[in-house]
Amino acid sequence: MKFILTKELGRLATWLRILGYDSSFYRQDNLSTLVITALREERVILTRNSRMSRFPGPRIIKIDSDFVAQQIKQVIVELKLKPKQKDMFTRCVICNIELEEIAKSRIKDKVPEYVYQNQKDFVVCPRCKRVYWQGTHWGNAREYLEKIQNVYR
Ligand SMILES: [Zn+2]
Repeated sequence: MKFILTKELGRLATWLRILGYDSSFYRQDNLSTLVITALREERVILTRNSRMSRFPGPRIIKIDSDFVAQQIKQVIVELKLKPKQKDMFTRCVICNIELEEIAKSRIKDKVPEYVYQNQKDFVVCPRCKRVYWQGTHWGNAREYLEKIQNVYR
C-alpha cells in the first residue's frame, strides 16, 4: 500500500517510511492536483484537512490526532496494516526511495569511527547518499513502534 500525505503530516510520513511504506509528501495547496496524483499513482491520501473528504475518487483518510503516535496507530488500524520487521528501515526517510546495500569499505570516511568499528552492515540512499546502519537510532525507532502498538492495542 502506498500513501500521499498532505504537508501538515511530515512526521507521519517519516514514520511510514521507517515502516517501509512508499509515502510521498504533497507540499502544495492545490487539492485537485493532489487527488489526480493519488489516483494516477494509486496512493491513499492521508490528511488532517477535513475539506478533503468532499473529493470523490481516491481513498482518503482523515487523520484525527495531532500526535504522531496516534496518527501511526490510526493508519495501521484503519487500513489493517501489518508492518513487517523485514520491511522496516528499507527506505530513505528523506527521499522515500529504497535503500541499497553498500560495501563497508566504501563508507569508511562517511560514518563516525566508532560506528565503522562496531557495525557490520550498511545501506545507502541512491539519491541523497545518506548512509544508514542498524545502530541506536533504529533500535530506538523499533522500541517506539512496539510501545505504540502495545499502548493502543
Ligand atoms: Zn535519501
